[in-house]
Amino acid sequence: MNDQPKKNLNLNILSVLKKYSDEDHKLTQKEINKLLEKEYGESADRKAVLRNLRYLREAGIRIGSTGISRANSRTGEEEYAQTDFFLIRDFSDDELCLLIDSVMCSNNITYEQRYDLIKKIERLSNKYFRDKMPPEALNYINTYIKPSNDIVSVVSSYIKLNKRGDVYLGLCPFHQGKTPVLKIYPETNTFYCSVCKFGGYMEDFITRIENNDTRCDNEKME
Ligand SMILES: [Zn+2]
Repeated sequence: MNDQPKKNLNLNILSVLKKYSDEDHKLTQKEINKLLEKEYGESADRKAVLRNLRYLREAGIRIGSTGISRANSRTGEEEYAQTDFFLIRDFSDDELCLLIDSVMCSNNITYEQRYDLIKKIERLSNKYFRDKMPPEALNYINTYIKPSNDIVSVVSSYIKLNKRGDVYLGLCPFHQGKTPVLKIYPETNTFYCSVCKFGGYMEDFITRIENNDTRCDNEKME
């Protein structure tokens, strides 16, 4: 079977529409073809593109288009066709800007959450959205550097860690002991010491170790 890539044609068409189309940027079937070629190196014939657009619509994807009547290039007969396709979005760009404004004004979220939210909102639109974004938000995402939230790399900058299956083990810095009982769980970005019973998120680890609060009530347990 060498028709394998064709299976993705409708998904690729949907991606093209998502990235390049809206009510102000409608695409003819020819333009969709060109973009498929450019983005995926995929050439599809006219009928395949139209057929897949129909599949997408049948699957509930809202795609706008204009109906035109024209003469068939072979028979010269009058025929009805669709052109100027675009993806109808749940949110208009104005609404997305409104959401971004409220994210920018919200004080109850961390810098990182704000960054992630703006990036998520941006993904609801297309490549033209950057020009419409509120300038302070654009400035924000361009200058904000996402912190590394990998607990293993943070904790290992303080103590030596060894990998044991899915977890990492190290000597707990919060009590005096000689066995590695501090467990780091990369999956959940958490840690726990089975002797001090102290655990939590990366922030808890940093706060405690930076405050030099290395004493532990259960110090003598080990
Ligand atoms: Zn401990």
